[in-house]
Amino acid sequence: MPICSITRCDACSHERQFWSDALYLQLDDGSLTALPHPQESSSCEDFGLTLSQASQRRRLFAKDFFVCRHCGAQSFTIQRKKVWLLDSDQQSPWEVFKFSLSIVCVAMPILLWFHRWDLAVIFVVAMLIVCIESRREMCKRRSEGKRTFSTDDAPGKVSVPEPKPSNPCCERPDLIPGFQVKDEDQIPCRECQTGKLKVIGAGIS
Ligand SMILES: [Zn+2]
Ligand SMILES: [Zn+2]
Repeated sequence: MPICSITRCDACSHERQFWSDALYLQLDDGSLTALPHPQESSSCEDFGLTLSQASQRRRLFAKDFFVCRHCGAQSFTIQRKKVWLLDSDQQSPWEVFKFSLSIVCVAMPILLWFHRWDLAVIFVVAMLIVCIESRREMCKRRSEGKRTFSTDDAPGKVSVPEPKPSNPCCERPDLIPGFQVKDEDQIPCRECQTGKLKVIGAGIS
């Protein structure tokens, strides 16, 4: 859950917000678009795919934000985000089948090792039911004219370069997590270059 620190410059009163982290979808042109909390799912679906589909297509990323005590600039690290949700009513039966198969491949050796044939059979049957149900749901959504994902124009079908973390902000970066900024950190204001940032509030989203 993103946390935010709200600051104001003690000289020019310019306000800045520093967030802890945020989720991004990488588009086919390589750019990152923010998926604001708490509407990550619907924002992602606006681009034609669910969060777990974006994750499977290696297009979901999380940025962690930092602020530099030396120059006041904000910077970020970036890592791929994995979402393991089964949107059985949204994903194609083939995707659901692949997902189910991967779970069976993990669970089956353990069940067989303990000679739980009964559980193994139940497990496989349950997975088949999930696949059949997903196909039924998908057909129902289509016949009702509801949106189904992924759409043909959804990002992720072409390969794009990995997004990179931000460049060093100055010659002497002194980074702290943005949402942990305190008055004592004496973060310089980048607006007027003379004031220091004072924390005036915090937020959560
Ligand atoms: Zn200022
Ligand atoms: Zn810096």
